[in-house]
Amino acid sequence: MVRALYIGRFQPYHNGHKYVIEQITQEADELIIGIGSAQMSHEPDDPFTAGERVLMITRALKDIGCPLYIIPLEDINRNALWVAHVISMTPPFDRIYSANPLVIRLFHEAGHSVTTPALYERGRLSGTTIRRRINSGEQWEDLVPPSITAVMDEIDGISRIKDLNRDDGE
Ligand code: NAD
Repeated sequence: MVRALYIGRFQPYHNGHKYVIEQITQEADELIIGIGSAQMSHEPDDPFTAGERVLMITRALKDIGCPLYIIPLEDINRNALWVAHVISMTPPFDRIYSANPLVIRLFHEAGHSVTTPALYERGRLSGTTIRRRINSGEQWEDLVPPSITAVMDEIDGISRIKDLNRDDGE
């Protein structure tokens, strides 16, 4: 029985995350998703609350076919203690998946091996690109699962991103 941990900010959840999760579910029996920077919201780079990100991921993975645990993880101000913080908040896990260099570094230093999935269409599939496209009115819907566009409608996410990027004229 392998329980895998995958941590991300998911601002928003997109097809790159989906690609990684499809790989993880081939290799693991249960999946824990850690929603990083859970305390952040209503910022240009972090527009969505942890709860909204839970909703996105729950909808996107409703047919995942394995036990799924979605755990919001607040950041802490001491990187050296972060892995212990993550462990204290999640079910026990056997394997970690990440391509984030800091996440890999901190887990390695704490004695955990990390699997790094290949990046999938990283030029298009990143939260930064999707937020930028939404803000500038470009097409973005094909970069996320259809369930995410529905959640974005439900939470009025598009106008939130535009408002957060608006200059107040000062
Ligand atoms: P993210 O949502 O940008 O990415 C999540 C994962 O998906 C990453 O491994 C990323 O490489 C991968 N990914 C993204 N696009 C992909 C694509 N197109 N193809 C394949 N894989 C893709 O989230 P992130 O920035 O990696 O999240 C790390 C979280 O950990 C952050 O919230 C960060 O604050 C937190 N953290 C906190 C501390 C602390 O509190 N001290 C320390 C380290 C990390």
